[in-house]
Amino acid sequence: MIVTKITDIAKLFWKEHINDRDIVLDATLGNGNDSLFLSKLVGSKGKVYSMDIQKKALDMTREKMDSSMSNINLILDSHENLDKYIKEKLSLVVFNLGYLPGENNEITTKSKSTLIALEKSMMLLKKGGIVSVAAYRGHDNGEEYIEVFKFLSTLDPKKYKVSLVNPINQSERAPRLFLCQKMKED
Ligand code: SAM
Repeated sequence: MIVTKITDIAKLFWKEHINDRDIVLDATLGNGNDSLFLSKLVGSKGKVYSMDIQKKALDMTREKMDSSMSNINLILDSHENLDKYIKEKLSLVVFNLGYLPGENNEITTKSKSTLIALEKSMMLLKKGGIVSVAAYRGHDNGEEYIEVFKFLSTLDPKKYKVSLVNPINQSERAPRLFLCQKMKED
């Protein structure tokens, strides 16, 4: 296997971590690739919630879905409202921050709503559950990355273990991957 992107590394973790029947959230649906990947991992008895603020993202994903992917629940809303739609405990929440590739790059994730969504995600995580965040330092003058870093790095280590995957011979702007695992219930 050749690992070219931080999102390839993220997928390795998801694959190792996710079981059949799990319930997961893709908090930044985009062109749907992550949700389609997750749909296969959780299987027909599992569930994938997929959120985006752009109808285009939902339409593009719907076009790619086949009959085996009816476990994907598409939600047109900001991830900061995730608790309106999700009541179950989650095994994994995925954030791939930034904008929809090839579309308007002004419609992008913003640190304020991202942090609200992160906090709410962590409340819904089951014990052992993981939040995976790919953050781009080139985006928003790095502000969103810095805010996510500050938030995750100050979490109580008895409750959450947080790691950062950092490509060291690539552009300063290359995305980094945060992995945050819940160690015990609140
Ligand atoms: N996960 C995607 C994939 O599989 O390719 C890529 C995600 S793309 C980098 C980021 C997406 O986040 C965009 O589609 C954008 O519309 C969406 N987004 C921006 N702000 C959002 C918000 N507040 N809530 C949910 N989605 C948001």
